[in-house]
Amino acid sequence: MDLSTIHPKVTPIYQTSVFKFEDLNAIQEYIDDPQSRYMYSRNGNPNSDELAEAVSRWEGGAGAVATGSGMAAIFAALMTYCRAGDHVLCAADIYGGSAALLNLELARLGITVSYVPFEELYDLKTHVTLATRLLLCETMSNPLLRVVDVARVATECHAHGLKLVVDNTFASPVLTKPLAYGADLVMHSVTKYLAGHSDVTAGAVVARTTEDAARLRQIGTVYGLTLSPMESWLSVRGLKTLRLRMAAHSENAWLVAEFLDEHPAVEAVYYPGLPTHPQHALALAQGGGRFGGMMSFRLADDAAVINRFMQRSQRFPFAPSLAGVDSSCSHPLTTSHRALTEAQRAELGITVGLVRLSVGIEPVEELLADLAQALE
Ligand SMILES: *Cc1c(COP(=O)(O)O)cnc(C)c1O
Repeated sequence: MDLSTIHPKVTPIYQTSVFKFEDLNAIQEYIDDPQSRYMYSRNGNPNSDELAEAVSRWEGGAGAVATGSGMAAIFAALMTYCRAGDHVLCAADIYGGSAALLNLELARLGITVSYVPFEELYDLKTHVTLATRLLLCETMSNPLLRVVDVARVATECHAHGLKLVVDNTFASPVLTKPLAYGADLVMHSVTKYLAGHSDVTAGAVVARTTEDAARLRQIGTVYGLTLSPMESWLSVRGLKTLRLRMAAHSENAWLVAEFLDEHPAVEAVYYPGLPTHPQHALALAQGGGRFGGMMSFRLADDAAVINRFMQRSQRFPFAPSLAGVDSSCSHPLTTSHRALTEAQRAELGITVGLVRLSVGIEPVEELLADLAQALE
């Protein structure tokens, strides 16, 4: 059978580490135009390219790289602009892994970091030094779902000659496209909403300019951060339903937030869709009327109360990740925010009573009934 006569509707999985060349002329063709064919899957593979192009299209970028994890994506994003001696600003409300990368590893390479409190993100002058290159922040933070005004922070960064790198994992491009608001790079833990089924570890970084996109591809190749064909294929499949899933996550989460907000055992709910959320108006405008599936709520500061909730709930298993089609819960104090100092945790209100929910796309009445019995 002549393989060129097969026309699959879906891109097959090119589970190969290397590609063949007919002769020296063929490899010269590749050297002259690396986009013309494939050579070695770490440098490029049809499946990882399909994912990178799909994420880039979603975010409105000039190009992207698909990486082996969200952490690899953050590393690639930071290495696009930084070298030894540089200084990085990072929003204080940041994913614990990002803080660990900056504090434990990039510090060893001579790249220093300062953390900027949420309230100071739009006035950076006291934080900027001659060595500052960029600011890293998240569209929506974990676990308090604080929403950053990306256009305002981009304007402030550019006024100081800084690049803006946005981790858009929680919002997804269905809610917010940071590049359109002026961000220079946007990255994802594809593990979360983009793949969406809790069965893949992957990441992606999208650049606003073709120069930065080329730099990202080089970093992916030479540091060996690129994604495998199988994980790329699963992520592409997940991405096809992103729009539908985000609509369902957002609708369910809004109803769950309203339910929790009225429950007597619940002391506080952190969800941008609630009118009482401090950045509700911003979230409404920047999220196109959707608020996503992530929220946190506060029960009594008593481990026995939290254990009872976790043991009784059937639909929100304690699984410290997020953004799958099936709901789950997590506990920031003992998982994602474990590495914070006591002062940082106190400042953010991360206590034993804080529970984070990732609301899935199940029938919402089943989720509400489960929460009702678990909180009884
Ligand atoms: C999970 C997560 C990451 C890290 O992604 P991995 O795929 O786990 O490496 C980065 N940022 C945010 C906001 C996340 O939730």
